Amino acid sequence: MSNSSEASTHSRPLSREGGRGDGGPLLAVADLQVSYGGINAVKGISFAVEEGEMVCLIGANGAGKTTTLKAVARMLPAKGEMRLRGERLDLLPSHALIGRGLALVPEGRGVFARLSVAENLAMGAYHRDDDIAADLDRIYGLLPRLAERRSQLAGTLSGGEQQMLAIGRALMGRPQLLLLDEPSMGLAPLMVQKVFEVVRSVAAQGVTILLVEQNAKLALEVCSRGYVMESGKITLADTAANLLADPRVRAAYLGE
Ligand code: ATP
Repeated sequence: MSNSSEASTHSRPLSREGGRGDGGPLLAVADLQVSYGGINAVKGISFAVEEGEMVCLIGANGAGKTTTLKAVARMLPAKGEMRLRGERLDLLPSHALIGRGLALVPEGRGVFARLSVAENLAMGAYHRDDDIAADLDRIYGLLPRLAERRSQLAGTLSGGEQQMLAIGRALMGRPQLLLLDEPSMGLAPLMVQKVFEVVRSVAAQGVTILLVEQNAKLALEVCSRGYVMESGKITLADTAANLLADPRVRAAYLGE
């Protein structure tokens, strides 16, 4: 990223002010349970994310990571308590979430293929009635590849550019908590690095991130803490450094 683009994005934070002030975690999840019919995909997990942290959920295919993120975003019916800045998320209708500062970047990105980059970004601010021009400028500063392609149809972007667009669209809602589902999925290694540089920049600007990744090494390298999920349960919770050094994690998820 160029220095000028960094400078333009530093003028105002990408996330809105927290305003919580009681010292509790930004996100606190207690005894979360999610079932698909008779299948218990998430079996009573508890975890927390502090303001300003970048935390990952890692685990094998089918462990329940995506289901957990979708449940936090209120896209799936779930049992258990979820609090954002102390407020019960699980008691709110899901459409009320975006106004509360929570945004999900779904697995597979979900950009609108027939809309331009600029139109996709504007969709991320559809709930706002204030001027979005300054936010667009900040997103283009953070994601110069999108700035160059602002008139291009999203469906014609590369996979990595679509991932950046999905992140940019979520940032248009000025989230305090960004839920990122498998941003590396289907991308070539070089593009994975670029997308993760973007994720780091977003975190550096004060957006709290909960990241789901099958690429455990990458996730643990960028995050400060992590949770390991296996068959719907959290089996390990520790700092990323400790998880990277843990022989169980190394054997199961780092291919050693
Ligand atoms: P992946 O990395 O493959 O997305 P994951 O850890 O995110 O894996 P989930 O996608 O949350 O895992 O899946 C958890 C369990 O729930 C799996 O057994 C999966 O088969 C099941 N599951 C997920 N979505 C559905 C669905 N829509 N209907 C029925 N079962 C589902």
